[in-house]
Amino acid sequence: MISFSHDPEAGTLYGYFTDLEAGQAVDELEYPASLLLNSAGRVIGVRLDLDDEITLNQLELALEHNEVRLDMQYGYLYARIADEAAARVVPLESPALIDLDEEDRLLGFDVAVPADLRTPERLERLAPHMLALEEAAPSGLERRSGGQHGDGDSTSVTRVGFVALVGKPNVGKSTLLNELLGQKVAIVSRRPQTTRVPLRGILNRPDAQVIFIDTPGIHEPHHRLGQFMVELARRAIPDADVVCMMVDISMPPTSLDIKIATMLRRVRVPRLLVLNKIDRPAKEGSHLEAYRALATWDMEIAISALRGTGLTTLVDEIITRLPYGELLYATDQVADQTEQHLVAELVREKVLHFTDQEVPHSVAVEVEEWQEKEQHTYIRLTINVEKESQKGIVIGAGGEMLKRIGSTARHDIEQALGRSVYLDLWVKARPNWRNDPSSLNWLGFRLKDWK
Ligand code: GDP
Ligand code: MG
Repeated sequence: MISFSHDPEAGTLYGYFTDLEAGQAVDELEYPASLLLNSAGRVIGVRLDLDDEITLNQLELALEHNEVRLDMQYGYLYARIADEAAARVVPLESPALIDLDEEDRLLGFDVAVPADLRTPERLERLAPHMLALEEAAPSGLERRSGGQHGDGDSTSVTRVGFVALVGKPNVGKSTLLNELLGQKVAIVSRRPQTTRVPLRGILNRPDAQVIFIDTPGIHEPHHRLGQFMVELARRAIPDADVVCMMVDISMPPTSLDIKIATMLRRVRVPRLLVLNKIDRPAKEGSHLEAYRALATWDMEIAISALRGTGLTTLVDEIITRLPYGELLYATDQVADQTEQHLVAELVREKVLHFTDQEVPHSVAVEVEEWQEKEQHTYIRLTINVEKESQKGIVIGAGGEMLKRIGSTARHDIEQALGRSVYLDLWVKARPNWRNDPSSLNWLGFRLKDWK
């Protein structure tokens, strides 16, 4: 049975998955949380909205309890008493603080509950599960101190929001992000469809925090992975405060541009038309009118992502359309993807770069092992290809190709991580993984990871 305790002074409700000993909690995470109420309005538990950063192993202690349930589809962890059904889910304003032990297992959580929801009456159903505070958390759980996580007073003047950057492959979305963020966060290639999952890049200015979602190219689905990518791009849009559709102004619109623009017509947030590659002479005259006619646009902005032309205007126009709000990320954070994901993407970029047309996009790179050592970070990765012949190409004569991939990737990775890295690269042939749903899962392309 899970236990709770209530600290009326701090306005906090604690939930424990295990008996705590002092000092057991060594780390802490924050996730959105909601209170679960029964039909009589009594609190019967808490829902934690986890994401895929959390592994099942970490939930070991939590899931030992019958009344704790994980909804895999949404990543919701329901911690409630007995089998009582929740009639209402009340989202809480501040995130839950979740305590982890040395093995990274979830020990418990605390949530800040508004005064009207923690009256004795509201909490009466939890009473049999309540422990006195001293009893429950000798000193293991940190008390929440006022609930402030941001860095102070600047929050009310900042504009904060999400920007979906959509456009068919190869129009320059990743180039723009890299240019804006001054660091490699998205991978760039001359070949379409290099960006596999939306990467989030964060642009910080004193007056704003802009979170870009670099969606994979919206394109005609040919196989499962393709469908998946279209779906991902579609999902990025509802989350956005501003949508930028990027096009290549040096070429006329194609059916794909039309398709994307049509999809965007339903979007309710501001739509900006970003005309990229103005540094290139346009083929067959100007295409401006043709792009303009694709939808109604809030604004058109002409840029060259490659040369850096027009980017200040673009960013200003985006920012004036974002809502005011509190910072969502620490200001020193560039990308919210995990380092592992970034490392895998950098290796993948090198494989595509050096093998040119010989190895198709079916290559997927996985981080198998990651160890922080005294002198360096040890990273073991597997490069997954579809055929033995491709494996041969990636390895190259005498391992020459793999060495080249490794040393150039290592260079970029060291720059990105800011420390020395030992890369241990392996190549595996896995036939047909692209059409095999279990293998998509296995590779971590799960939709909810990237919503
Ligand atoms: P994405 O598929 O939309 O992410 O496109 P990428 O950023 O990978 O860019 C595709 C190609 O277009 C790369 O070769 C870029 O160097 C090139 N590119 C991007 N922006 C510009 C630009 O402003 N001018 C020119 N001439 N090329 C560009
Ligand atoms: Mg890209």
